[in-house]
Amino acid sequence: MKRILTGIKPSGKVQLGNYFGMIKEVVALQDKYEVFLMIADLHAQTVPYQPQELKFWTYELASSLLALGIDPKKTILFRQSDVPAHLYLYWILGCLSYFGELQLMHEFKEQAERYKKQGVGVGIFMYPVLQAADVLIYNADLVPVGQDQVQHLELTRELARRFNKRFGRIFKIPEIYLKEETAKIMSLDDPSKKMSKSLPEGCLEIFAEEKEIRDKIKKAVTDSGQEIKYDPQNKPGISNLMIIYKYLTNKTLVEIEQEFSGLGYGDFKEKIIEAFFDYFRTSREKKKKIKKEKVEKILNQGAKKANKVAEENLKRILKIVGLR
Ligand code: AMP
Repeated sequence: MKRILTGIKPSGKVQLGNYFGMIKEVVALQDKYEVFLMIADLHAQTVPYQPQELKFWTYELASSLLALGIDPKKTILFRQSDVPAHLYLYWILGCLSYFGELQLMHEFKEQAERYKKQGVGVGIFMYPVLQAADVLIYNADLVPVGQDQVQHLELTRELARRFNKRFGRIFKIPEIYLKEETAKIMSLDDPSKKMSKSLPEGCLEIFAEEKEIRDKIKKAVTDSGQEIKYDPQNKPGISNLMIIYKYLTNKTLVEIEQEFSGLGYGDFKEKIIEAFFDYFRTSREKKKKIKKEKVEKILNQGAKKANKVAEENLKRILKIVGLR
């Protein structure tokens, strides 16, 4: 059975981009693949954070994933920091990485700009290497991610090739699993940026209060003109809303254009709100019933399974690089 590894940072509530970019795919893939789904708590440390909040968001994220359809009988759901082998391989791969190539990462450039006053952390600079270790320590075949992570995955593939060439063939070269159309949900208040927990105004959190969701959709940036027409170049706001509506309703863009022909942006937004609650109703109810103890048990079981695979691979790696 082919193996999948993917992760998500516990830095806030799950948002629509996480869901359509990654979680939905993993829910579909867990029937056919062996899935390792990691709560990337070490990655969450790359930007300023509060220790108590990190703990809180870890449980919050795990319960959200369960409510959204991740099945712990099929998927190994675990906390990254519970598997020390990731960090061991991170160091080894870091010694194979070049300063120049890490400097080229878009996410690093973005974060470096954002934190330039406070000082840019080395964690942000190195985190694509940790991400490579996350994937390679399980020898994953496939990594489902959103478009924003493709560059990091290209680096993972490159580091795997470099390691194999230098020390001997240990790693599979993982494939990037990307669904083109679902791959990038843009911010509701600035459709030139991706929807992200770090831009809260334009971020639609799946388990937020009903009023907040309604308000954010109503306030979503639209474009000049009145037509509901898919045109990402000239109408990025409406086009992003159409993509969201498309995935909430399973309708095609042409069907959506027809449905709203002659109607205004206000009508369209009302329908998006309705579709959002229809789509996520069951998950929102399910989440309220998930207890912390249950989440803890699932994460502990996941950690055991993940450690077993990661430690076995680490043994082979330590041997081949000359540490054992
Ligand atoms: P993060 O929240 O940054 O840990 O991302 C977790 C997963 O969600 C990754 O696979 C990302 O590619 C995906 N993702 C995050 N934001 C978006 C977005 N706006 N559109 C599509 N996918 C996203």
